[in-house]
This record gives sequence, C-alpha cells and structure tokens, in this order.
Amino acid sequence: MTPRIRGCTGKKKYPNATAADDMLGRIWSTCKPGRRLETRAYNCDHCGRWHLTSKPLQHKEMEQAA
Ligand SMILES: [Zn+2]
Repeated sequence: MTPRIRGCTGKKKYPNATAADDMLGRIWSTCKPGRRLETRAYNCDHCGRWHLTSKPLQHKEMEQAA
C-alpha cells in the first residue's frame, strides 16, 4: 500500500512565497467576476514547494496566525 498522501503532482509549484504571491497578483489582475480564484499561497508539506489554493484558511491555520 502506498502511504495516503494528498497528491500535489497536478498543481503548479512555486519555489518560494514570493514567486507564489507574484502569480497570485497576476491572477487577480486578470480576474473575472464570478470566477473562483486562488486566494492564497501555502507551503506544501509533501513537496516543500508552494501551491496556490482557493480554499479559505482552516481553523488550525487561523489559530496559528493569531
Ligand atoms: Zn506539493
């Protein structure tokens, strides 16, 4: 059995937060109303790179940020 890992192979990877934020800015500058957009970047536990997600912060992450 393979370990249960949340796959990230299909996601775009960014080497650091700056690169991910830069891409977020590009996405927002071209956004269209009603379209679901990536809202933030997060550091992936599996590959160590950064991905973009449209999911809101989870409670756990919000507690850590507070
Ligand atoms: Zn990843």
